[in-house]
Amino acid sequence: MIYADNAATTRLDDEALNAMLPYLREQYGNASQPYSFSRSAKKALKDARETIASCINANPEQILFTSCGTESDNWVIKGLALSHSTSWRVAVSEIEHHAILNPCKQLGKIGYKTNYIPVDNSGLIDRHHFENIKSDFISVMFANNEIGTIQPIKELSRIAHCNGALFHTDAVQAVGHVQIDVKDLDIDFLSASAHKFNGPKGIGFLYAKDSSLLKAFVCGGSQENGLRAGTENVASIVGMAVALKRNCEEIEANKKHSMMLEDVLLDALKTSEIDFIRNGARDRIPGNISLSFKGCDGEGLLHLLDLNGICVSTGSACDSRNTQVSHVLKAICLDEDYARGTIRISLGKNNTVDEVRKIAEVLVKSVGKMNL
Ligand code: PLP
Repeated sequence: MIYADNAATTRLDDEALNAMLPYLREQYGNASQPYSFSRSAKKALKDARETIASCINANPEQILFTSCGTESDNWVIKGLALSHSTSWRVAVSEIEHHAILNPCKQLGKIGYKTNYIPVDNSGLIDRHHFENIKSDFISVMFANNEIGTIQPIKELSRIAHCNGALFHTDAVQAVGHVQIDVKDLDIDFLSASAHKFNGPKGIGFLYAKDSSLLKAFVCGGSQENGLRAGTENVASIVGMAVALKRNCEEIEANKKHSMMLEDVLLDALKTSEIDFIRNGARDRIPGNISLSFKGCDGEGLLHLLDLNGICVSTGSACDSRNTQVSHVLKAICLDEDYARGTIRISLGKNNTVDEVRKIAEVLVKSVGKMNL
């Protein structure tokens, strides 16, 4: 099997797994209990919070644990809006993940004003539109999951603040893959998810510069300062911290490795006769390669690659009658002829040159078959 879908999820880091095991076996105490048996769970939470905070240059109390990136996104979008009246205005980019778009749609249905910010052909925010938005809250993803485009977050946050809006970034694809300094970026909120940076699934965090702006979204006990109830998932939080620290220490080396693999793949495709476009801006998440093959069907390509043991994603979802082009590919106005034939190959630190050569070989044959 060749796993080339690291933007969907990543393999759990061995050190992260080893760090988790004691909290799944011997140290199973509930971190909220006062007796000494729970002390180690409590300390593990404190250490993990400090580690995670230091990885993005935050303060520990600004890190709030959640169950995933989707929860972090929902909390900031719906939690903030629902603690204001429907005159609260929300603006998000057109190419956000559904974890942002769907809560926004829900807000729109109950009377909140929602605004969708267009992007250019490479997926970068339309600056003119952005500068003229009248909104109380703006969310723009750090990096797009389908095409990898990285937005100029520092600049967007500055403009949002000048216009009186709070600024959030969904950094699920970026945390652990590019350097992030929340103080330098001067953002108000950031969402992250452990399984995208070799941590366990089902755990994430929300960074909040000022957590007093947030109301409890999941209500119950007093965990996370009363802001997010529910017994803490100590083992996963520990695994998330170890995985993030390791990935952050290796960011430059991993970036170099992924870019080298990208070159191997793209060189092999360019020397073949096939007609394709690479999507995204110049500044992308390392290893995220969205390719559109003229006259092909992305779903069909995915299955041909799968028959050869290769895992990738599509940029289109197929039903029995027609191929639906994703909202991201529509937003960048990609020609339909190419858009239907889009796949996303996302390479990571565990991929090898031999694997990438094999992907290129199978891809060239599969595209050839489809164009016969
Ligand atoms: N935001 C982005 C940009 C993503 O790519 C994803 C997952 O693919 C999510 C949010 C959702 O994260 P999770 O799977 O942790 O809920």
